[in-house]
Amino acid sequence: MLSAITRFIVLISLAFLAAYIALSNLGPSAGIASGIAVLSIPLIYSYVNLARLRRFTLEDSVESMPLPSGYWEEIFFRLQRLVRNLKLQIRSTEQQHNRFIEAFQASPNGIVMLDDQDQIEWCNAIAERFFGLSFKRDVLQRINFLIRRPEFVQYLYKRQFEEPLLLERMGQGANLSLMLQAFPFGDKRHLLLIQDVTDKQRADAMRRDFVANVSHEMRTPITVLMGFLETMQSLDLDKTQQNQYFEMMMSQAQRMKSLVEDLLTLANLEANTLPAPMKAINISTLMALIKNDAEALSQGRHSLHFEIATPCNLMGEDREILSAFSNLVTNAIRYTPDAGQVIAQWSINDQGQGEFSVTDTGPGIASEHLARLTERFYRVDRSRSRDTGGTGLGLAIVKHIANRHQAQLMIESTPGKGSTFTLRFPKERITD
Ligand code: ADP
Repeated sequence: MLSAITRFIVLISLAFLAAYIALSNLGPSAGIASGIAVLSIPLIYSYVNLARLRRFTLEDSVESMPLPSGYWEEIFFRLQRLVRNLKLQIRSTEQQHNRFIEAFQASPNGIVMLDDQDQIEWCNAIAERFFGLSFKRDVLQRINFLIRRPEFVQYLYKRQFEEPLLLERMGQGANLSLMLQAFPFGDKRHLLLIQDVTDKQRADAMRRDFVANVSHEMRTPITVLMGFLETMQSLDLDKTQQNQYFEMMMSQAQRMKSLVEDLLTLANLEANTLPAPMKAINISTLMALIKNDAEALSQGRHSLHFEIATPCNLMGEDREILSAFSNLVTNAIRYTPDAGQVIAQWSINDQGQGEFSVTDTGPGIASEHLARLTERFYRVDRSRSRDTGGTGLGLAIVKHIANRHQAQLMIESTPGKGSTFTLRFPKERITD
């Protein structure tokens, strides 16, 4: 390809040649006109190519424009390469940007980006759900106009973001606890990270309640025991009185022992997440054991019936099954007034599932309590439970044992008439 100077020299020579030929043949005016005409050829060529370039630029199709010849070819070629590279760069930046957005959207935490005026620049779907925001609607709105909780407004105002902020009763049902923290980034911008801590808060509250309950349950018998000891220390009691006091002290100690035993059983059950083993438990033998204990507890005050519709084996952990069955029978006897009736039954239902049910003619339980009966220390009638030696942990234990055996605990009750507690075992745990 010719260089620019060579092209310039060739053009000037051509212009002179044309002017000379025209001058010698047609006179001076024709000579000047021919010289100018030759000189304007590259101008026309450039104008045509500029017009093409303008058209392709307007149509955003620079990459596909055909390359002209001459020095415009290089300009078009370089421009095409530049546009192509720029588009590639834009596409890769867009892809990266989308990946960041996708990653932020996949985060289990709420994320809000605030500009230097605390206006929302971007937020993910979780943050929208937590705060009832809509990114499309609320973009560039000041966040403290949208989240109006005083503690949050204060937090933003004070700008002490080293500590997180706990927001309770958030979300649509006002049932969420959210932990929020602002992190500075870029040019006076802030990233708000919001974590749902509802379950953790609930677990913490349960743990606190549990410790308070255990302390309370232990303190009562200890206080009574100490009272007796002080009395025995300060008073000169005769043998009969001393024996009476010892008996009362024994019953308090027994109460503490039952509580500690139940707590240990519960702790063991909770620690063991594996399904119960498949040891064969003979239902007839098991029912005979429970019947003996029940008769000893009732002392003839109730009419007791033990029925086995289908003798078979239940596959499970024998100690746990015995504990669950006796808990239900013991409760029925403890809560049913004298002369009442308690029926314990074992049967196989139409689906082949094994059912152990205990029906009593006791006081029954109002429906609002039913869902909470298996919570630790939940009692309908506190004093009745204590008077009959209850720890408030019996049904929580039964429920755990049921879970370990893939069994269901069902409670039906009519206040004033009585209750039926049923444990339903899957047919895979029943054998002949
Ligand atoms: P407790 O040691 O207090 O009996 P449980 O966990 O065994 O604890 O039972 C929880 C509560 O359920 C009891 O306090 C009692 O109010 C109620 N309850 C359990 N079984 C019966 C029943 N057969 N009849 C009436 N109420 C019952």
